[in-house]
Amino acid sequence: MRSDLIVSNDFASLSPAFFTRLKMQGLTDPTLLHVNPDVLALLGLSMDDAHSQEFLSIMSGNADLPGGVTLSAVYSGHQFGIWAGQLGDGRAHLLGAIRGTNEQDQPADWELQLKGAGRTPYSRMGDGRAVLRSSVREYLASAAMTGLGIPTTQALCLVGSDDPVYRETVETAAIVARVAPSFVRFGSFEHWYAAKNTERLRELLDYVVSHFFADEVPQQDSTHSLTDVIERFVDVVVARTATLMAGWQSVGFNHGVMNTDNMSVLGLTLDYGPYGFMDDFRINHVCNHTDTQGRYAWNAQPSVALWNLYRFANCFVALGADPERLKARLERYEGIFIDAYRARLAAKLGLDVWKEGDDELIDGWWRTLHEQSADFTLSFRHLALIDEDEDPLRSLFADTTRLDEWLAGYRERLQDNADADAKARARRMNRVNPLYVLRNYLAEEAIQAAAKGDMSVIDALLPLLRDPYTEQSGMAHYAEPPPEWGRELEVSCSS
Ligand code: AMP
Ligand code: MG
Ligand code: MG
Repeated sequence: MRSDLIVSNDFASLSPAFFTRLKMQGLTDPTLLHVNPDVLALLGLSMDDAHSQEFLSIMSGNADLPGGVTLSAVYSGHQFGIWAGQLGDGRAHLLGAIRGTNEQDQPADWELQLKGAGRTPYSRMGDGRAVLRSSVREYLASAAMTGLGIPTTQALCLVGSDDPVYRETVETAAIVARVAPSFVRFGSFEHWYAAKNTERLRELLDYVVSHFFADEVPQQDSTHSLTDVIERFVDVVVARTATLMAGWQSVGFNHGVMNTDNMSVLGLTLDYGPYGFMDDFRINHVCNHTDTQGRYAWNAQPSVALWNLYRFANCFVALGADPERLKARLERYEGIFIDAYRARLAAKLGLDVWKEGDDELIDGWWRTLHEQSADFTLSFRHLALIDEDEDPLRSLFADTTRLDEWLAGYRERLQDNADADAKARARRMNRVNPLYVLRNYLAEEAIQAAAKGDMSVIDALLPLLRDPYTEQSGMAHYAEPPPEWGRELEVSCSS
């Protein structure tokens, strides 16, 4: 590893009540299964660094990050709508923050967190481990979201071992090393609110605002009161969350476990468990097999996020914020979400701007897809082609009656575009409608190969997920809808 690595421990400088310092329980005889070169570059590390023994020791939980303070953080949260009390990093260890660069090439600190490096004081009944299956899924999903331009935590590398892990069957252990500016969750704030500890709540607020929102939220000073700071902070978290939801909805992403402890305060997609990118479109699709009530169904996500924001914002009443004024902030959510959602959907449908009446067009499109269980990703992708060839789109629908009706209205609406050129429209649409998406069955193929020590599917997928809009030759398989065996794969919270 680079010897001039700059490591900071700002989270560790909070009061000890926020975390437990501890030693990891590393994997036995670990193997570096995969490294994401883009994430490596963000950290200023080279492939040589990644293939050093030191790197493997750290990423397998067998050595601390030089200069880092290893800890697990405490948080609480609402799970499936019910207050769950204290949770915390039950199998995650924060190793410190590495000075690197952000996507704009500006200096940036990246917190490095390992998932699956053993038990912590917050493990409750859990074993502190993660299985290869779920680790491959998190590794790939992080890259997929990044490629789609949707805010997310990122995954640096995947480490495996033959250590057994007991789930429904015996599986093997793995660790994903993930990075983000911060892993603070809505539930991190709820924890101190529930404990009626306003001192710690205030400390967390000051830490988060000064470290991650300095450009958007004013410091408390003679012109800005604490309530000004809180209201502005809530404004920004509301806006980021609303924008994130528009991103998820636009790509058919279903998170699966939108508990408040899985909601990033930075507005990142966080904690990939039983998530799914939809194949067949179903408006109320539920990817998490354990979610029998459908609380986290695809069409419920935007309103669940708002429910979660209410739990988050409510914490600040304890710091003197006015509930009515906070409510006014939360009421902005819907407008921000709708604007972002309309902009994304208009672009996906090849409309140059959203216009009055387009909500009906969009809803009609969803209804058409839903009725025929048409493929989410390919329906949008093939819609761009209709002036050249309608067949690829039509082939996704068993019965095209409603599609034909919808297309008539759609063609009429396209005439209002300032640029009527069909080829130019198709090019624009192809830049926002991915051809490749991390379908469950592709993740499953990657998992099955990885379980045999074969990383070739991950090797093939990563470049496609990195740029999912550009057709790559020889990669037609990865653009296909699922085969029969891969249609209704069951994914649950067990990971
Ligand atoms: P999740 O539903 O994955 O967000 O997890 C909810 C809580 O359970 C968090 O506190 C996790 O850290 C914890 N948890 C999940 N799986 C395990 C495990 N295998 N060992 C210990 N804690 C776990
Ligand atoms: Mg979680
Ligand atoms: Mg999880």
